Amino acid sequence: MTALLEVENLRVAYGKIEAVKGITFTVEAGRIVTLIGTNGAGKTTTLRTLSGLIEPLGGSVRFDGRSIVGTPAHEIVALGLAHSPEGRHIFPRLTIAENLQLGAFLRKDADGIGQDIQRAYELFPILGERAKQAAGTLSGGEQQMLAMGRALMSRPKLLMLDEPSMGLSPIMMQKIMETIAELKATGTTILLVEQNAQAALSLADSGHVMEVGKIVLSGSGADLLHDESVRKAYLGED
Ligand code: ATP
Repeated sequence: MTALLEVENLRVAYGKIEAVKGITFTVEAGRIVTLIGTNGAGKTTTLRTLSGLIEPLGGSVRFDGRSIVGTPAHEIVALGLAHSPEGRHIFPRLTIAENLQLGAFLRKDADGIGQDIQRAYELFPILGERAKQAAGTLSGGEQQMLAMGRALMSRPKLLMLDEPSMGLSPIMMQKIMETIAELKATGTTILLVEQNAQAALSLADSGHVMEVGKIVLSGSGADLLHDESVRKAYLGED
């Protein structure tokens, strides 16, 4: 079986600085794959490149059987690859409902869009309770939920989540992680970038550790969670 996403020898540079130095990994349909690593390892750059926001220096990216390098970002969304970015990037002056509508900007099926908005409210009840309020009034964790809900509005085959736990309380974080598991159970494939290695590896089928632009270690979520070097470097153990 070919993977839903196949990344081969991907290289990305900002001017002369190579932020991603030839990484190779795949994401099989129906799985959760995580990229972990310290600040500046190149995880966000990788996601932004996969979603067409940055042109890579080299390498190939195949999504659902076709090459997507050079494909405009909106066409990549239309192919079924959605991105919930770091720092959330919601529209603070628009209402919560309007933010969700914007996630469906490529769709014409009003009934389906309505159903998916209801689904977002079921996943995250707070969004439904405050649907008509400006999104900027939500707490950080609630904005994170809105960003995830909005990414889901394109009905993606693959959802890329950049640091969904950033700045969240332990309870909110638990909720986000449960939602990611629920999304997997309903057939969404997930590529998860996280600084919280414990949470990400507990959830993921497989993971890759990135350091200064390279993948230095790969394995199943469980194997990496028990790996001594990972525990020392990312889980705060001596
Ligand atoms: P973090 O968790 O801190 O976001 P990351 O693993 O996602 O880390 P990136 O944000 O991808 O890392 O950054 C990788 C490298 O590229 C870093 O050295 C960073 O300073 C650099 N970088 C990122 N964005 C730019 C930019 N727009 N221009 C120049 N350098 C950049």
